[in-house]
Amino acid sequence: MTSTTARALVVPRNGDSSVLEVQDVEVSPPGAGEVQVEVAAVGVNFIDVYQRQGVYPLPTPFVSCSEGAGTVTAVGSGVTDVAVGDRVAWGSGLGAGATVVNRAADTLVPVPDGLDLDVAAAAMLQGMTAHYLVNSTYAVGPGTTALVHAAAGGVGQLLVQMVKAKGGRVVATAGSPDKLEIARRLGADAVVNYRESDDLAAQVRDANGGNGVDVAYDGVGKATFDASLASLRPRGLMVLFGGASGQVPPFDIQRLNALGSLFLTRPTLGSYTATREELLERGTSVLRDLAAGRLALEVGGRYPLADAAAAYDDLEARRTTGKLLLVP
Ligand code: NDP
Repeated sequence: MTSTTARALVVPRNGDSSVLEVQDVEVSPPGAGEVQVEVAAVGVNFIDVYQRQGVYPLPTPFVSCSEGAGTVTAVGSGVTDVAVGDRVAWGSGLGAGATVVNRAADTLVPVPDGLDLDVAAAAMLQGMTAHYLVNSTYAVGPGTTALVHAAAGGVGQLLVQMVKAKGGRVVATAGSPDKLEIARRLGADAVVNYRESDDLAAQVRDANGGNGVDVAYDGVGKATFDASLASLRPRGLMVLFGGASGQVPPFDIQRLNALGSLFLTRPTLGSYTATREELLERGTSVLRDLAAGRLALEVGGRYPLADAAAAYDDLEARRTTGKLLLVP
């Protein structure tokens, strides 16, 4: 087998979306333990923004994006559980933003029959994130009260549904009436427009019968962190899982004491998919729930690879709902 030429979304240097370039790249035949995939759809994620900006430093140039799905076209030596023609998806590791990629076979999750590849691509990173947040970071169950910020966003929409499916109660925030309506439709028990709030924690408590919530899921970061802490019950869990509004600055740990023996965690998907078993368990669970209609995923926009900058501009400017995809 010879090398192929792919089109790829390249970050040549750190910067805003204007640095993005679509370039031709050589893709070698898959090596040992790898498969080659013709990519059907690529997921747009905030981690791509942090990596492009240099908030998560990486040597440049690199091919952007961590999430995708497609069909296996070639198999390297030693690969036994993936075959040519298999439909596969993944949600970690750089380089997904291309028409053809080589992937380590043990990072792939099979896509169930009946599930579109673009939905699978859209679900992997955010779906597995929501899955670990409600199952493993905090074991949400009947009666759990959860605060979910940016509830009309990619992770947010899935979090609302997963908390509700477990019998929990959701206080959701979002930045516009239309976004609040999306959160309500997905099952949120109470909604708060945090762009119009001058005391967000008080509003969250009001919406929760005057009590603090058990767990705060906060991927907005800098703008909401203090209010999230103040929304928790004593011994509640603060889950800071991202910084869409900016990273949270250094923090005086005594505040956890003053606010009532709070717990704080800053989780990342890699720690919750570190073994092949855990990756397969989470990925398969999310894809099966989607295929069976137990979980709904809104694809809020599809952009050609050449228009990737517009997708990231929309995401960063809070103009999007649900999940954005790049279609190579
Ligand atoms: P979203 O689709 O949720 O988009 C981000 C949303 O955040 C916006 O739509 C906006 O909603 C809200 N927001 C509030 N303030 C700002 C701001 N200043 N700038 C931009 N957005 C703002 O994105 P994702 O679902 O892809 O990601 C959500 C978060 O989850 C990110 O922080 C991401 O890094 C994190 N994440 C973390 C993972 C982990 O394992 N730790 C894995 C995956 C994602 P509104 O208009 O309603 O305010």
